[in-house]
Amino acid sequence: MFTCTGYAATSAETKLAPFTFERRDPGPNDIEIEIVYCGVCHSDLHQARNEWQNTLYPCVPGHEIVGRVTRVGAEVKDFRQGDLAAVGCMVDSCRSCDSCREGLEQYCQPGFTATYNGPEQGTGANTFGGYSSHIVVDRHFVLRVPEGLDLAGVAPLLCAGVTTWSPLRRWGVGPGQKIGIVGLGGLGHMGVKLAHALGAHVVLFTTSPGKEADAKRLGADEVVISKDADAMAAQAESFDFILDTVAAQHDINAYLGLLKRDRTLVQVGAPEKPLDVNVFSVIWRRRNFAGSLIGGIAETQEMLDFCGKHGITADIEMIPISEVETAYARMQRSDVKYRFVIDMASLPKAA
Ligand code: NAP
Ligand code: ZN
Ligand code: ZN
Repeated sequence: MFTCTGYAATSAETKLAPFTFERRDPGPNDIEIEIVYCGVCHSDLHQARNEWQNTLYPCVPGHEIVGRVTRVGAEVKDFRQGDLAAVGCMVDSCRSCDSCREGLEQYCQPGFTATYNGPEQGTGANTFGGYSSHIVVDRHFVLRVPEGLDLAGVAPLLCAGVTTWSPLRRWGVGPGQKIGIVGLGGLGHMGVKLAHALGAHVVLFTTSPGKEADAKRLGADEVVISKDADAMAAQAESFDFILDTVAAQHDINAYLGLLKRDRTLVQVGAPEKPLDVNVFSVIWRRRNFAGSLIGGIAETQEMLDFCGKHGITADIEMIPISEVETAYARMQRSDVKYRFVIDMASLPKAA
């Protein structure tokens, strides 16, 4: 075991504060990474505040991790000390169920081990995430960082990138299709960039009129202010696919009605309370309402490689870790441009 520093929430009501804890030394198949940057996902906020009612405390959030390898286990042949490495939302899974065998570890039937909030395979213990100095992860769950990209802008690809990439690929988004992205936050802005790079005609739906110019710069062909009923009506029944990234309550039926016959709206945003689906939104035109959870390890690497080839990174605001609560407050007001990334050099040193 060795000592790490980090930031943790100790209850739903307490603010994140400095926290010292132990991690295992790397085993034969493990890689130890000194964390350089960690993105701030809205899930970190949901989890720290126990909005999904399953938080284990103390909670060290963070699952958009990039850093440098400091130690490798004897069986690890393809990473060396000093290499760049990345970790996303998962650090382990059962490795033997159908989903794991198909490279869809996020749908592991007994359940995967999340980068934070556990449960560790076998013991059920809590896990501690990327708002920390180091992390130790099995090689299978460590990603390679493509060369030539800004490292801080790569961090958000590990969740926001793959969570939008996975459904865009699963539903075959590409040239000749009109697709919608709902919400321009961390996930939404990656959805716009990736869908644009995949060749689709991209329409961004936002509640924030001030984000219009940015959305176009990021790759949207059209921007619709979702509070404008006439603008919404003009888009009726015209979409091949819609990806909804909204983190709060909103009217999902307003978007289901924009799909053509037999097309799909995929929900990735995870508000704490259920969304009301009017059955006629899906009965009419035989539409589909689906969900999607992050992405598997192979498709995460595929997404990173695609981003390397196309020069895609997140648009970020860098913060010291002491400002994480301010970042959460801004995220709650939809005031994100478009992902906060923590500079881990700002972590207080161990006493
Ligand atoms: P974020 O950066 O806070 O972005 C969410 C965006 O939703 C906001 O920027 C805002 O965009 C829009 N929005 C917020 N409140 C709204 C409201 N009341 N009505 C309509 N739109 C609203 O969050 P994020 O990190 O992208 O995460 C988004 C959600 O995805 C979170 O719930 C997160 O937990 C979830 N998530 C899910 C997965 C998965 O695997 N399914 C993975 C990661 C995250 P505009 O200002 O443009 O309207
Ligand atoms: Zn996330
Ligand atoms: Zn499994």
